[in-house]
Amino acid sequence: MAILPIHVFGSPVLREEAAPVTEFDDELRTFIADMFETMDTALGIGLAANQVGVARRIAVIDAEEQRFAMVNPRIVEKSRTTGSADEGCLSIPDLYGPVSRPDSVVLEAQDENGETYRKELTGLVARAVQHEIDHLDGIMFVDYFSPLKRQSVMRRWKREHEGDPLTWTPSPEESEAVD
Ligand code: ZN
Repeated sequence: MAILPIHVFGSPVLREEAAPVTEFDDELRTFIADMFETMDTALGIGLAANQVGVARRIAVIDAEEQRFAMVNPRIVEKSRTTGSADEGCLSIPDLYGPVSRPDSVVLEAQDENGETYRKELTGLVARAVQHEIDHLDGIMFVDYFSPLKRQSVMRRWKREHEGDPLTWTPSPEESEAVD
């Protein structure tokens, strides 16, 4: 397995609409294992393929004891009720802000072997799934901020991260240090 470099805001792949997966082969399964390892090392609760530079419809989730891969995921139902909570993103380090989303969703996706499954999700894991599917459509959570707010927080973020490379690679030593 391998830890993959994570692309940050400004990298064009984060704005690409990811292409559907049609081949469920060992290459895909290895890539998904690498995504899990990358997410775990970065201490994330979700990771989309765009974030590691691959515009394919693949994401992994580990939130509230639910750990799964989603291939070609889509939301087939969502609650009318919404809730707001702070989100962050491995592709916009150090930035957090509130996003309103449906409280619960029904996810339909394929697993790493191409088997279709459905899951009813609520709370943090439902939020994580919606955040990751957004990535596959080139959407980032700051897009939900009002234009004025987005402009001001992103201006500050860009100033603080000026000259940073467009990718970062999570390191196991640093994740251990957090514990
Ligand atoms: Zn994200």
